[in-house]
Amino acid sequence: MSNLQQTSPCQTCGACCAYSRSWPRFTIEDDEDIARIPRYLVDDDQGGMKCQGDRCAALDGVIGVATACSIYEVRPVVCRSCQPGDEECLMARRRHGMAPIEAAIES
Ligand code: SF4
Ligand code: SF4
Repeated sequence: MSNLQQTSPCQTCGACCAYSRSWPRFTIEDDEDIARIPRYLVDDDQGGMKCQGDRCAALDGVIGVATACSIYEVRPVVCRSCQPGDEECLMARRRHGMAPIEAAIES
């Protein structure tokens, strides 16, 4: 959900934020990066975001209707790198019964 607050597909989707609890894991984040995320939203092992089932605890809204990341400015790297229309996006949308979307064409 990298462009969650910038592009309409993400604002009415949220599928990648509720695809797998192993998805929003920390990768290259350092301690300072993680400290910017509210503690109650970080998993107990500090390895990623807390999830309820497969849904990230930072996701607000209703999947497929209207969603937003409540920690958008400090979200994990993996969340920034997922782009609408990429492989992860298509997998997540398929899982939630949503039609695939085309990747934006970079100019
Ligand atoms: S699955 Fe794709 S369209 Fe949906 S929120 Fe994630 S990046 Fe955006
Ligand atoms: S931190 Fe935000 S962008 Fe990342 S999975 Fe959770 S709700 Fe989605």
